Amino acid sequence: MKTIIVANWKMNPQTLAEAKRLFASVERGAAVKNIELVICPPFVYCFLFSAFRLLGAQNCFWQKEGAYTGEISPQMLKSVNCRYVIVGHSERRKFLREADEVVNKKIKAALEAGLKVIVCVAGLSQAKESLKGINLSKVKNLIIAYEPIFAVGTGRPCSINRAEKMRILINKQTGGKIPVLYGGSVTSQNADHYVKKAGFQGLLIGGSSIKAKEFLTIVKKLDNKS
Ligand code: PEP
Repeated sequence: MKTIIVANWKMNPQTLAEAKRLFASVERGAAVKNIELVICPPFVYCFLFSAFRLLGAQNCFWQKEGAYTGEISPQMLKSVNCRYVIVGHSERRKFLREADEVVNKKIKAALEAGLKVIVCVAGLSQAKESLKGINLSKVKNLIIAYEPIFAVGTGRPCSINRAEKMRILINKQTGGKIPVLYGGSVTSQNADHYVKKAGFQGLLIGGSSIKAKEFLTIVKKLDNKS
């Protein structure tokens, strides 16, 4: 199985021109064999990159259509060629008070629409609650990202030992077949440890994913070591 690397651009960059530049540099350098490279730009830029095979979004709503001002449905994402969606990111849980029940509805709606869903969890209880009612032995398009709150966007990555312990517990809780990624202050210095030492299936990368050179260093390192 390929190593999965998900670039979460968050609310960056600020202009269309910069987004195009970033995308072009990443795409040029990312012709790799052993990595499933998913790029998740902000919604407004998604359409622009719809020719990219592994496009993702950073969020979605749980309804298909209707009077939900400001929201984007999984079906809309599919129509602009998004194949992945991140759901339950800790920044949404924190700033928008997204609770596990909301995350759960989004996961179900996105799966039903045929998207591959990357569910962010900070621990076992979030994993349990967010995935309630989903048949984990049958579900295909689900990926879990273990993202400890203290490590996301802080420059303080989780220790490899602690991350590995959590990876094992999440694997156990979810039946062992669902890929588990690590996210939280990943850099070119620590990226391969999470995959090679702690046994994660891949990485969810925020800050380092908008620095093209740093990001491509991570991708190449993991491609060679796969
Ligand atoms: C993220 O955006 O999910 C993330 C882990 O961010 P960072 O890599 O900046 O910690």
